[in-house]
Amino acid sequence: MSVYMDNNATTYMKKEVLDAMLPYYTDIFGNASSKFYKTGRDAEQALYKLRESVAKNIGAAHANEIYFTGSGCEADNWALKGIAFANKGKGNHIITSKIEHHAILHTCEYLEKHGFEVTYLDVDEYGVVKPETVENAITENTILISIMTANNEIGTIEPIREISEIAKKHKIIFHTDAVQAIGHMPINVQELGVDMLSLSAHKFHGPKGVGMLYIRNGVKIDNLIHGGGQERGKRAATENLAGIAGLAKALEIATDNLDENIAKLTKLRDRLIKGIQESIPYCRLNGALGDKRLCNNANFSFKYVEGESILMMLDMKGVAASSGSACASGSLDPSHVLLAIGLPHEIAHGSLRLSVGDDTTEEDVDYVLEVLPPIIKRLRDMSPLYEDVLKGDNK
Ligand SMILES: *Cc1c(COP(=O)(O)O)cnc(C)c1O
Repeated sequence: MSVYMDNNATTYMKKEVLDAMLPYYTDIFGNASSKFYKTGRDAEQALYKLRESVAKNIGAAHANEIYFTGSGCEADNWALKGIAFANKGKGNHIITSKIEHHAILHTCEYLEKHGFEVTYLDVDEYGVVKPETVENAITENTILISIMTANNEIGTIEPIREISEIAKKHKIIFHTDAVQAIGHMPINVQELGVDMLSLSAHKFHGPKGVGMLYIRNGVKIDNLIHGGGQERGKRAATENLAGIAGLAKALEIATDNLDENIAKLTKLRDRLIKGIQESIPYCRLNGALGDKRLCNNANFSFKYVEGESILMMLDMKGVAASSGSACASGSLDPSHVLLAIGLPHEIAHGSLRLSVGDDTTEEDVDYVLEVLPPIIKRLRDMSPLYEDVLKGDNK
């Protein structure tokens, strides 16, 4: 049995998406900047159509507000550095939250080394950025607010519309990292009232290595990638037409099937959450509840065990999951997100993220519910701390 429950890390690519990409490797292979012959113009026209399709599916007013990038990380880097450097004359203060993805947090740390000041907002115990904390942090030097649409570790959905109202009132540019939100909740840039929005194709069944930054017309932003005049002079590099076609197709499928997908994933998520809560003592669900939570995310802390040990034992049973720890960076530091919601280090260490996707079945969920409780029990049986707890309970 092999069960993939790490869809917040990446997703498999759909066959329809691959099919939409293939012609751009072989037939429509021209350089979209080569306008003197038909092969190039075909590529240029295809690119324009794809841009229109993406604009429509995120509710952008114009196709020329869509800028394709090489990843979600690049879109986030560009949004922050590009706005910071373009608005240096106006101010040097940026507001973000403590639970952003490292693409935002590490970019903010870089900007701090280059003369910018960053406020990292606290979140509540569910991981919610309270709009009033955003408003209270604004100074006359604030040039940018960046708050994620939904968190990739604990699934909390942020009050983006309320925060965008505040940004608008104070005439401050507002960016949101919507990488986890696409395909899991309705996303319409005009309804959300955001000036910029990042997404990444591989998080919603598209290809890796292609992302997008929506930049509302009128927003002044510096280039991150310098070179040719692609993307209306804003982002050099010959366009990855096949990748862009994949992104556009995956976005179209995600948008067309949004309601059924949300219903399906929510059911699987809730079966998983309920099953774990009923079968494993001393566990804590991290993140927000119900419809304030991404429909595909479950995140638990299990007292008296280590997240890495759970992952290894799940892997032996064929289950792919993720822990709250930043193991990707090779460090054993507990997740900054779990610390920000107030978990003590030892509990943050024993965390597990299970994220379902559109190929997850009820049988997959039931399999995890069958193998996980004995794993936690076995690990606890080896823990001296848990032995003390049992003694205390038996008294
Ligand atoms: C995955 C992710 C990113 C980075 O996207 P890549 O395309 O992998 O660079 C950024 N933000 C969030 C919230 C993510 O989940």
